[in-house]
Amino acid sequence: MAWASDSNPVDEMKYVVVTGGVLSGLGKGVTASSIGVLLKSAGLRVTAVKIDPYLNEDAGTMSPFEHGEVFVLDDGGEVDLDLGNYERFLDVCLTRDNNITTGKVYNKVIQKERRGDYLGKTVQVIPHITNEIQDWIERVAHTPSDGNGKEPDACVIELGGTVGDIESAPFVEALRQFQFRVGQDNVCFVHVSLIPVMGPVGEQKTKPTQHTVKELRGLGINPHMLVCRSKSPLIDETRNKISAFCHVPPEAVVSAHDVSNIYQVPIMLESQGVTSMLADRFGFELPAKRKVLDDWKELADHVDTLDDAEEVHIAVAGKYTDLADSYLSVIKALQHASFKVNRKLVIDWIESSALDGETERSDSESHNSAWKLLKSADGILVPGGFGIRGIEGKIKAAEYARENKIPYLGVCLGLQVATIEFCRNVLGMEGANSTEFDEEPAHAAVVFMPEISKTHMGGTMRLGTKPTPFLVDDCKIRRLYGGEGHVDERHRHRYEVNPELIGDIEEAGLVYVGKDETGERCEIMELDGHPYYVGTQYHPEFKSRPDRPSPPFLGLLMAASGMEI
Ligand code: GLN
Repeated sequence: MAWASDSNPVDEMKYVVVTGGVLSGLGKGVTASSIGVLLKSAGLRVTAVKIDPYLNEDAGTMSPFEHGEVFVLDDGGEVDLDLGNYERFLDVCLTRDNNITTGKVYNKVIQKERRGDYLGKTVQVIPHITNEIQDWIERVAHTPSDGNGKEPDACVIELGGTVGDIESAPFVEALRQFQFRVGQDNVCFVHVSLIPVMGPVGEQKTKPTQHTVKELRGLGINPHMLVCRSKSPLIDETRNKISAFCHVPPEAVVSAHDVSNIYQVPIMLESQGVTSMLADRFGFELPAKRKVLDDWKELADHVDTLDDAEEVHIAVAGKYTDLADSYLSVIKALQHASFKVNRKLVIDWIESSALDGETERSDSESHNSAWKLLKSADGILVPGGFGIRGIEGKIKAAEYARENKIPYLGVCLGLQVATIEFCRNVLGMEGANSTEFDEEPAHAAVVFMPEISKTHMGGTMRLGTKPTPFLVDDCKIRRLYGGEGHVDERHRHRYEVNPELIGDIEEAGLVYVGKDETGERCEIMELDGHPYYVGTQYHPEFKSRPDRPSPPFLGLLMAASGMEI
């Protein structure tokens, strides 16, 4: 994306700190990303930091039930899904250091203490932890992230959780001090709150916001802007009341009401003067032409038009299907691809255990409805996953797609189950399985990778971006990647297709068209003579962008919409 100018619009780093109150899940991440888009549209280079006040070093060991999807970065960082929002909105590439956790900060301070860096001193939350947090923020804020190798001009910092939590207290204190470290004019505090609507006339209630701002101010932070989540736009009376009680000018009380799609959020904030307020506070000029904003508007409006477009149904056979956050990047990648093929995307979630009759969820009614959904889909996707639950159902979904020539995309585990299915049903290897689900299967189709630790679970998978050279001159997936010689995509797995079986599998028509640089490890599969039967050992969803859908996902949507690849 082109920058408005290459001269620096600001002389010092600008920080926007986004905190939240009342309850979690208010869309702080989308607010932070949207503010980033607005700064970018003003010609600033923008990066982002997420603070997660939990003791885990990173999100890698947390279940998606607990935490939502684990997002994977180029450097192999397993991080909070908000970093995915930043990457997609700002079109940047972040590092593991852009996600600060309590675990990371304490770990670092304790290591320093052991080394003797604080010799003679009592190591304390203030100043040692709070200083470490500030040093960390400053360091990552200056790290180039947009691929041009230049330092950012602005950094959006999102503090996870809600203000007042015991966990976040050291971070709030560090951020309070931070404004004096970097200069108050270089910091803008934005607090996201909720305006519930009550009673027969639908009154917009301001009390929860009054309380959370009071709490924040009690901790020494005076917000410069309040972003108020509400169903419908804030009425003037509500805005004025919040302004009066919260010591924020009325124009800085911003309505973040429900909009037709998330790409409208930056536009909604822009229309209330958020960018001009930031420009005033930080002392930069708003350029007359803001291409990033124009592109963004175009995208948001295009997405709206798809409501009336022809539907394309994609069945996702997974195990966390009750919780859309668990598959956030997969959903985003499917959406991005649907924007390109101009279809209205309908995701039919299928609890894969119901396809098989494996658990209590697979009574005959849920079994039948799962199969009905699967059979009516235009395309089938099996996403990544861990553990045995629902595996047989996923294998059945892969079998159904292969036999009935339904477009199929298998991501990571989805490639592995397609391989198991192929071994069982095409090569006649009865009992073929992954050693993840059966320690001693009759045929080990998928095996534990030799270099992976058997004793340590945190950060020990095959992680991050690795190059995958294509080994076949012409195949659908290579065409989708624009004919490139290799792809760089992000990984997160412990198991791989058994290298000993590759020859037999390929001879029968399931070809691993991409392998790792050693030529041994299977990375991309494609089935001969099928409209689209593709699997990737990596997770292409993590690098998808609204205007540049991930190629394997685009292929699925194209095939599912009856387009030639
Ligand atoms: N559980 C499989 C593995 O570890 C697949 C992982 C995934 O889908 N991310 O290899």
